[in-house]
Amino acid sequence: MNIHEYQAKQLLAQCGVAVPAGAPCKTVDEAKSAAEKLFAAGHKLAVIKSQIHAGGRGKGTFKHGFQGGVKLAKSVDDAVNYADNMLGKTLVTKQTGPDGRVVSTIIVAAAEDIKKEFYLAVLLDRTASKPLIMASTEGGMDIEEVAEKHPEKIIKEHVDPLMGFQAWQGRKIAAALGLKGDLAGQCAKLLAGVYKTWWECDASMVEINPLCICVGPDGKEKMIAVDAKIGLDDNALYRHKDIQEMRDLAEESPLEIEASKFNLNYIKLDGSIACLVNGAGLAMATMDIVQHYGASPANFLDVGGGASKDQVTAAFKIILSDPGVKAIFVNIFGGIMDCNVIATGIVAAVKETGLTLPLVVRLEGNNVEAGKKTLVESGLTIISGDSMADAAQKVVKAVQ
Ligand code: GDP
Ligand code: MG
Repeated sequence: MNIHEYQAKQLLAQCGVAVPAGAPCKTVDEAKSAAEKLFAAGHKLAVIKSQIHAGGRGKGTFKHGFQGGVKLAKSVDDAVNYADNMLGKTLVTKQTGPDGRVVSTIIVAAAEDIKKEFYLAVLLDRTASKPLIMASTEGGMDIEEVAEKHPEKIIKEHVDPLMGFQAWQGRKIAAALGLKGDLAGQCAKLLAGVYKTWWECDASMVEINPLCICVGPDGKEKMIAVDAKIGLDDNALYRHKDIQEMRDLAEESPLEIEASKFNLNYIKLDGSIACLVNGAGLAMATMDIVQHYGASPANFLDVGGGASKDQVTAAFKIILSDPGVKAIFVNIFGGIMDCNVIATGIVAAVKETGLTLPLVVRLEGNNVEAGKKTLVESGLTIISGDSMADAAQKVVKAVQ
């Protein structure tokens, strides 16, 4: 699950990371009164930021032509104009794809006086089986581009998961970023807070781009997380009731939301062959074999080890609401799963949805004979495959 910048900043602040104070606003009126308060308090500049689950907002363009999802306002009128051009409008960035995302919340905050921008992220390095901290002096930029053109400018520091983040690692990274004195101390403290957020929230990634040296009204320099992005591990969400409440369904694909209601692991893809499989590994192998025989999968769908008839029916409905689907490939290995439950679910789903697309089924394992019997006796047109390869070839042939 992903969350918005303003929510990520709340989580970071709870772990002691310095973030700019700012109010999320859902209407132009709310944005206006937030801006009035800022300018009345003596701030000279406000920042208005579109909240969507995608980066690159600063350089993004709204579909109605307005430039920039992050704007600096010099007056209340400016702020109102920007809010009006963002709220309810569709923002297209490098990361949203051409469809863009509708902005339904903006942040209105006192703009920071930024002196220098850095990049910082904590993620899991699967190869090393360790958390990894990445930092760079090239902040505010596309980090993929930095990694490609100037890999030497990315500092990498692994954290021992048992020992946890050590103070010396904070000082080491701060020094590598060229920071000295008080700023180095602030940076080390901030790093500890960002790592703590990553660890305690069960995040898959925390990214601060840019992390900034800002000059306060008193002239003092401060390290502040000006932007924040957090991705969370769905498998650990049950441990975080507060974070679950941050879910924004408007940012998710309607089919994926429907799938999550039935505990189905569904990811929509662009191909024509829908796959209904039990187990993530078998689902991956099924997608590979479809590709191997010359077609593309329309989705990843894992119904889990102990799927019920209702789940199978729901899975069918979700698959069929994708207009790109031209054939369905059911590939089940019954370990815990009873093949007859799947077969009963398939028959019910085919009847309920009035399926007209080719359906290829390969069943193997627990109670397979009863499952095959249910399919045959249903009188439905089902192409059965003897092996995974046989079934895959049949389904690919059906779409060609
Ligand atoms: P992104 O484009 O989606 O990554 O959004 P960011 O939050 O990173 O904002 C883009 C850029 O806007 C940043 O790299 C900053 O240069 C600038 N920016 C964001 N917030 C502020 C602010 O408070 N003050 C100033 N001066 N610039 C800001
Ligand atoms: Mg950014």
